[in-house]
Amino acid sequence: MSRTVYVNGEFLPEEDAKISVFDRGFLFADGVYEVTSVLGGKLVDFDGHCARLNRSLGELDMPAPVDDAELLRIHRELVKQNGVEEGLVYLQVTRGPADRDFAYPAEPVPSLVLFTQVMNLSESPKAAAGIKVISIEDLRWGRRDIKTVQLLYPAMGKMAAKAEGADDAWMVEDGFVTEGTSNNAYIVTQDGRIVTRDLSNAILHGITRAAVLRFAREAQMVVEERPFTLEEAKEAAEAFVTSATTFVTPVVEIDGVEIGDGTPGRVSRRLREIYMDECSRVAV
Ligand code: PMP
Repeated sequence: MSRTVYVNGEFLPEEDAKISVFDRGFLFADGVYEVTSVLGGKLVDFDGHCARLNRSLGELDMPAPVDDAELLRIHRELVKQNGVEEGLVYLQVTRGPADRDFAYPAEPVPSLVLFTQVMNLSESPKAAAGIKVISIEDLRWGRRDIKTVQLLYPAMGKMAAKAEGADDAWMVEDGFVTEGTSNNAYIVTQDGRIVTRDLSNAILHGITRAAVLRFAREAQMVVEERPFTLEEAKEAAEAFVTSATTFVTPVVEIDGVEIGDGTPGRVSRRLREIYMDECSRVAV
């Protein structure tokens, strides 16, 4: 069945949704994106995704194609037209079409595209069983805080993981874990502290990360935002990842080493529960 896709002001059947070959998103990966999950037909943490989108646009001097209220309207309309109960809304803004030139066009006309994907997020088998990760060197550029569409290195990491029978890769820089290919990375120490890398240009400032850390602190859990090594991770009691579409997903193996007893840990499972309850409650 054909989806309805949003392109620059129009809701169109996906076969008719087109972007110019001169679009700078296509030629230079000159674009940013957001992925917002949908639970019970509602948007999870929409304000957070909007705020991060505006920050990414600002860092790249890219004009926002529409304001936040209009973005919410488009998201809701797309969810409605596609009858999405559970899944995601993908949004991409690029600097738009222009003659090929490294310099930004003086008067860019940004492109705005949104589409939906129906997915089973709440009952994911990976969340129940936990995932296996491998480690790879973090060879991405230095502005990982900007959510750009240049995702080839993370895609290569995912393929390297698959080739080894794992689900994902954790990236390591100067001996410390930065994050997963498409998620933030955490460990739980043997004495129960939740450790995740502090915010900087080295990682994406996850919207799920912010919510999960807030809920953890509210539940009187101890949170440490600091870099951790792969060795520390392998000796941890638990490990997990967070992202908009995977919520909190336990990690049960790193580079072939079982974490804890090799099954999803108590803290990770509890955090997933809390996160899903809370985000369903405040979805819009
Ligand atoms: N880090 C990276 C590299 C990501 O691609 C993502 C998901 N896009 C995240 C972290 C998680 O961010 P969020 O919780 O906002 O989905």
